Amino acid sequence: MIRWRRARLTAAREETPTARTLVFEVADWPGHLAGQHVDVRLTAPDGYTAQRSYSLAAPEGVELTVEGLPDGEVSPYLVDELTVGDEIELRGPVGGWFVWRPAVTTPVLLVAGGSGIVPLMAMIRARRLMGGETPFHLVYSLGEPARRYYAAELDTPEPWLTITWVHTRVAPHRRITKDDLPGPGPDVFVCGPTGFVEAAADLLLDLGHDPGQVRTERFGG
Ligand SMILES: Cc1cc2nc3c(=O)[nH]c(=O)nc-3n(C[C@H](O)[C@H](O)[C@H](O)COP(=O)(O)OP(=O)(O)OC[C@H]3O[C@@H](n4cnc5c(N)ncnc54)[C@H](O)[C@@H]3O)c2cc1C
Repeated sequence: MIRWRRARLTAAREETPTARTLVFEVADWPGHLAGQHVDVRLTAPDGYTAQRSYSLAAPEGVELTVEGLPDGEVSPYLVDELTVGDEIELRGPVGGWFVWRPAVTTPVLLVAGGSGIVPLMAMIRARRLMGGETPFHLVYSLGEPARRYYAAELDTPEPWLTITWVHTRVAPHRRITKDDLPGPGPDVFVCGPTGFVEAAADLLLDLGHDPGQVRTERFGG
């Protein structure tokens, strides 16, 4: 069984007005693959605990990006209250299916809805670290450009990375369609809220993608 470890917040940066990236120092962290997540546990002074999952945002070190839900229990605390030097508990890495392994050179299609970009960004960063020839295509659907995570990084062109942006709340308001997605061939990773993941997976299967090559991760919601 994976044990709980203490994690100390060493740095935090704002991604958007509602999302924050948190960098933790975790003693004896065993390392992880891009796409894996951790379980985070908060304990109140009266002993009440709450536990949620968060994807690892980078291939090295323990870095999470959390979207604060206005009516959520855990995420507003992580985004607005946790201070550098504070400790929480986490357990991981978790997950062995929704992972990109740098040794696999099949082209990659990443399909992100909102905060679903987080584990996909770990894959992009792992690809950058690794070098090589593997082409990546990211399709990133979000409300508006101001909600982009990792904006400066994704605005820096990389010859191996193609990005298709879909904005649902600025003109032309639209949702992801088959025209945004390439045909079968690449290994596909889809991540986001449950409804988004189901819609994107249906489009991919309609386009003829092999279900065995389409991996999905649902964030709930
Ligand atoms: C594998 C995995 C990876 C994830 N990675 C990330 C990540 O990288 N970044 C990220 O931001 N999130 C991620 N999530 C989502 C995350 O785990 C949390 O679900 C999210 O942060 C919300 O938690 P919360 O405690 O703030 O909200 P919660 O308190 O859990 O509430 C979530 C929503 O449900 C509603 N709700 C709660 N209780 C009720 C009720 N009784 N009746 C009706 N509605 C209710 C709330 O109003 C809110 O809108 C991931 C999830 C999974 C499964």
